[in-house]
Amino acid sequence: MSSSSSSAPVFHVPAEFQAQCLAWQRAGQRVGMVPTMGALHEGHLQLVRLCRQYCDRVVVSIFVNPTQFAPGEDFDRYPRDLDADLDLLRPYAVDGVLAPAPSAMYPAGYSSAVQPGKIAQVLEGQFRPGHFQGVTTVVAKLLGLARADVAIFGQKDYQQLAVIRRMVTDLNMPTEIVMAPTHREPDGLAMSSRNRYLTPEERERALVIARALFRCRDRVAAGERDARELAVDLMQDLIDGGMDSIDYAVIADGQTLESLNVIGDDAVALVAGHVGRTRLIDNLLLTK
Ligand code: AMP
Repeated sequence: MSSSSSSAPVFHVPAEFQAQCLAWQRAGQRVGMVPTMGALHEGHLQLVRLCRQYCDRVVVSIFVNPTQFAPGEDFDRYPRDLDADLDLLRPYAVDGVLAPAPSAMYPAGYSSAVQPGKIAQVLEGQFRPGHFQGVTTVVAKLLGLARADVAIFGQKDYQQLAVIRRMVTDLNMPTEIVMAPTHREPDGLAMSSRNRYLTPEERERALVIARALFRCRDRVAAGERDARELAVDLMQDLIDGGMDSIDYAVIADGQTLESLNVIGDDAVALVAGHVGRTRLIDNLLLTK
């Protein structure tokens, strides 16, 4: 562990982090965790603020998890700047930051994984093979290390949250999973560490995603119930707005993520695709 008076204690060794969390819990304190891959922005900081409301000790993990990146994805170029992240966290008096090397999380001989079920096979699961197994495995490890009473995840990664909720329920994990709303730039673009890959021209075009999603939600608010028509129009809006490729644009059930024909009481619109070389995802709850 290393620490300074002004920034959070940083743990590079998972076992030391776990011992600290255990000590807090034995002293009767609730531990809340915010798992991240770093390159922190206001969306992440909002999760940290929310976490504070649920517990006595707030811990943040900063770990670019290799196993959730498929070959050819941006693992190597994913932004990493621990010092900048610690600076951003400083005002929040976080109790611990877990920042392990991949070899500390997956040492020689490591050979286990958590296999997610059906909910991980659609949408992102189709376009990022193996992604969710990487996510469930690392999140199970992180929650186990922190012995987290609560963990905060962003709505921005809606399917990830659904997959994690399913895992926590299915595997009887004692952690409460809390969803934080998607934090957006003033013009609507969902904040993402990957937004920094966008050129100014791409950044402008990327706005089509939020605009199309909000238009879809407005139509539902105005009474539209035909989910298939809404999905077709959502796709068309994205094409017209200049997205370079669209992996999916769907209206789905908020729990199962199965595509809907008719808007019920729990519908979500989800979009993924590329602007330039950058893959962006976003979603909006249509009925809540
Ligand atoms: P990441 O570092 O991108 O893996 O994200 C770590 C956590 O922050 C995940 O739970 C994300 O869903 C969440 N997150 C990322 N961007 C946002 C955002 N714009 N608003 C809310 N939560 C976010």
